[in-house]
Formats: sequence, structure tokens, C-alpha cells
Amino acid sequence: MGMSGSDERQDRGEWVNWSGSLRFSPSRIERPGSEEEVRQIVKRSCERGEVIRPVGAGHSSTPIIETEDVLLSLDGYRGLVGYDEERCQATVRAGTTLKEAGGFLADVGMAFHTLGDINVQTVVGAICTGTHGSGKSLKNLASILIGGRMVTAQGEIMEFSQQDEDLLRAMRVSLGALGIFTEVKLQLVPSYSLRRQEWCSTIDSCLENLHDLIESNRHFDFYWYPRSDRVKLRTYNLPGESYADLPYAELVEDRTGASHLVIPKVRTLRFNEMEYFLPLENAVDCFEEVRRRVKNDHRREVAWRVLFRTITPDDAYLSGSYGRETATIALLHNASLPFWRYFQDLEPVLLEYGGRPHWAKKHTLRARDLRALYPEWDTFVRIREKLDPQGVFLSPYLRGLLEAE
Ligand SMILES: Cc1cc2nc3c(=O)[nH]c(=O)nc-3n(C[C@H](O)[C@H](O)[C@H](O)COP(=O)(O)OP(=O)(O)OC[C@H]3O[C@@H](n4cnc5c(N)ncnc54)[C@H](O)[C@@H]3O)c2cc1C
Repeated sequence: MGMSGSDERQDRGEWVNWSGSLRFSPSRIERPGSEEEVRQIVKRSCERGEVIRPVGAGHSSTPIIETEDVLLSLDGYRGLVGYDEERCQATVRAGTTLKEAGGFLADVGMAFHTLGDINVQTVVGAICTGTHGSGKSLKNLASILIGGRMVTAQGEIMEFSQQDEDLLRAMRVSLGALGIFTEVKLQLVPSYSLRRQEWCSTIDSCLENLHDLIESNRHFDFYWYPRSDRVKLRTYNLPGESYADLPYAELVEDRTGASHLVIPKVRTLRFNEMEYFLPLENAVDCFEEVRRRVKNDHRREVAWRVLFRTITPDDAYLSGSYGRETATIALLHNASLPFWRYFQDLEPVLLEYGGRPHWAKKHTLRARDLRALYPEWDTFVRIREKLDPQGVFLSPYLRGLLEAE
């Protein structure tokens, strides 16, 4: 189901996100089953001066969906609207999850060019926060948005397409702050298989060979385990293009299958996470500093594992990978343990090396800090103000995030 944050909340009308670190009680949860219903809900809220926040599968762990007023879920509005085999494009309803879309797109010979670690997010939720996988030549998932339909703050339908270049650059990572997407048109690729290999090694061998690992794999990332100082390397390649052997690593998993089935995992162990997008050229130095600090100060109490990934640049105004070759460093911490001391100690290090925070993961930045990190920040802000001058979609948290004064 779309709203999969937690089960207990349903009875009390309380919202709890996936990791359990965020709770709030909206005055209403709306689940429209049609675009016309979405329009009516937005119009009503606009007249009453209420704040509406759209929610997908509730997997973000910053309060981007929090509102005291209306939480709007499109989990009753999902599925394939249409597709174009020749152009490899498809349109889906906004409640559709990556998993569902992966399935029905495979039936018509198409696939996502990349995926993150899991596939239970909605396609739109993933787009709105700039969700990404790993791979030096792979852009984030937001980059595949090429058109669609949105209900605006005035309760009107706005259709948009590839011609609306500036609008698309704003929409691609838009935090649900511009309007309610009802349908999204996606640029896909022909279905493909991947060979997934996982290897165990030491952090020193990994860092010595990092350049080669990044350059010679379609997808490469690694997890570092602070307590043992060992790593798990993950590579995904087109069959026939994979490593047969890495002399410094032990192969522990090797399987081949359709991309949408092989990339995502099911995560049962809940965790909180802080992830920053760094310029690729700073990433190793930054990682070394993170490693030093984690080993010195945090190894006893925390530091479950640290994830390192890469992303190709794009031009969405609020994208973490805007305009630069990017590597990300993510601190993962078991959800049952306190996380702020750990994250707040490491956040200045990630910032010092030029990091931008993942919108959906823990960070403490506000507009005054964020504005300097995104060269076209003001363009996004202007587009947002034009689309929603009254702030129908602007919760107090989003105001703090997007409004510098
Ligand atoms: C276990 C786990 C693994 C993860 N793995 C990765 C990963 O590998 N890579 C990565 O980059 N991120 C990852 N994430 C983060 C995750 O991809 C993002 O939080 C994503 O945004 C979640 O999608 P969602 O459907 O849950 O959306 P939500 O969290 O519910 O919402 C996300 C944003 O989308 C907006 N939104 C939702 N629906 C609409 C709509 N119809 N119209 C307008 N706005 C809308 C919301 O307002 C909000 O701003 C992971 C998170 C978890 C918990």
C-alpha cells in the first residue's frame, strides 16, 4: 500500500513514517480516487486557508509531509495510463509504486534506468526528493520526469511536457511544494538484465581500487562496517560485462535477473539515515574524515554502516547532484537507537567538503544555509511563489526550508 509508514497510526489518525522517527496528527487524511476529487480537495483547502501535504509511501524521514491540516494520499489512484514503445515512454498515475511500475513496465518491454536500494516508494515520491541509485553514468530517478498532470494550488489542472523546460527542472526535485502530481510521464529504457555481485573486502583494498571500481562498473557502491573496518562492495553490470574476479575480495553473492527484480532489496531492519551529496573529487577525503571520526568517537555506541555511492550530474534546480559529478556518503543508524548526536557531529564534516543534504533524510539545514548550495535556488523559489502564492502546500517546515527571510 502507498501509505506504509506504520500500522498503529491508522486507528488514531496519527501519521508515523517508516523509521518511526516522525509522528504527527493531521486533522484529515484524504484519499481521493480521481483527479476531479483531488481538485475539489485542493479547492476546499485553498478556500479554508488549510495546508495540504501530499504523501507517497511515507519513506522520507524529514518532516516534508507533515501538516496539522490535510494529508493527501493518492494510494487509491495508481496504475499505467499509457505508453509509447518506440520512444520508450510511459505515463503512470501518481499513487503507483516503483515496484508496481517495474512489473507492468517489464510486461511492455521497458524499465527504469536505475533504482535505489528499495522499490516500495511511489514513483512520484522518489522523483520529488531526488531519489537515486549508484553508477557514475546514471542520473537520479527525478531525471526521468518528462511530463504529466498536476493539480495546482488554485485547484486547476496543469498539463506539462518536455517543452516546459524550466518548469520540469523545478518539478524534478520539488518536495511536493509546487502542486499535486496526478500523472507523470517517464522516460524509460528498454528492459535489461543485470548481474548483481556482492563482495567482501577490507576498506583499504576498496579505497586503493576505488577509481577502477567506479569507472569499470555500470553500478558500484560499497558499505563500510566501522566495527570490523571491512566493506561490502556491490557491482551491477550487464551480463557478460561483469568482473569474473576481484583478487582482493571474496565473492559472496552472484545472481542475474531483470533489473527491476535484481536491484531492490526488502529492508526489514528499520534505520535512520543522513546522506549528503558531495563533489566526486572531494568524496574520498571526506569519507576518510568521516571514517576517522566514526572510529574515534562513535564506534562503541553507533555506526551500523556507512554507504558510498556515485551519481551523474543533472540540472534540476534542487537536485543534490545538480551540475557536478557526485558521490554520496550515507550514515545508517539502527532505528531503535538515538541518532542525533551521531548525525550532528558528522554533518559539519559533510558540509565542509561541499555536501548538499538528501531532502528525504535527516539533516538540520534551513533556507539560509541551503540557498548557497544550489546555484539556481532563486529560480526554484520564484517558480514556487508563482504557482502557489498563498502557500496552500507550504507547511511551517517547508517554509523554513524554502523561505530565507
Ligand atoms: C529503507 C529506505 C531505503 C531508501 N533507499 C533510498 C535510496 O536507495 N536512494 C535514495 O535516494 N533514497 C532512498 N530512500 C529515500 C526515499 O527514496 C525517499 O524518501 C522517497 O521520497 C520516498 O518516497 P515515498 O513514496 O515514500 O514518498 P514520501 O516520503 O511519502 O514523500 C516524498 C515527497 O514526495 C511528495 N509527494 C508524494 N506524492 C506526491 C504527489 N502526488 N504530488 C506531489 N508531491 C508528492 C511529498 O510531499 C514529499 O515531499 C530510502 C528510504 C528508506 C526508508
